[in-house]
Amino acid sequence: KDANTWKKVDDYIAERLLPYDPDLEKVLSANREAGLPEIDVTPTQGKLLHIWARMQGAKRILEIGTLGGYSTIWLARALPADGSIVTLELDPLHARVARSNFALAGVERQVELRTGEALAQLAQMDKEGTEPFDLIFIDADKPNNPFYLQWALRFSRPGTVIVGDNVVRDGEIIRADSEDPRVIGVRSFFDLLSREPQVTATAIQTVGSKGYDGFAIGIVHD
Ligand code: SAM
Repeated sequence: KDANTWKKVDDYIAERLLPYDPDLEKVLSANREAGLPEIDVTPTQGKLLHIWARMQGAKRILEIGTLGGYSTIWLARALPADGSIVTLELDPLHARVARSNFALAGVERQVELRTGEALAQLAQMDKEGTEPFDLIFIDADKPNNPFYLQWALRFSRPGTVIVGDNVVRDGEIIRADSEDPRVIGVRSFFDLLSREPQVTATAIQTVGSKGYDGFAIGIVHD
């Protein structure tokens, strides 16, 4: 089967299980109009994040990599009324579009968008004594993935779920000689994860409307 079939199957699933959602459609249009790259999670993946957050009973979520806030909105909608999501974004244009999208989707009160280098923001949050998160979604620049994983562990408690996106990269991940900094970053992320006694993790390959990739998911324990 080819990429065309993967897309058609994604459409088939979305038509049946993801009712038409005018707000999310407007968010995607706003992203396109602003010229944002179409690298947000797919609708079916967004819903998977939403279901995980609900399974986890998450009240505090951290997302690294906002883009236009599409995944943020899926996650925010899983929160109880007193829950919140902190999302980190470097690009001021992405952040501006995301803020307007949060208002459009009516989740702005539950979202704290912090702009700037995620690593700097994470260090700042540490200084502020940020409480642990229930769910952490890592989806920013892949070369920094190992550092994001270390921060994720710092902001975890036993039971925290950590998810990392784009960890297969069209299969490039098995190339030990790759010079692509994103592949190198994801490979070090896997190495770290494999040595980390505090996390039970796996990764799943995926195909869909955005090609062949995959996500990693782990749960933190004592
Ligand atoms: N999670 C989003 C979604 O599914 O809708 C997609 C995020 S996109 C794959 C990655 C985002 O990370 C981009 O918006 C990019 O500007 C941001 N980013 C890249 N490097 C960053 C950094 N050093 N610190 C914070 N954000 C960064």
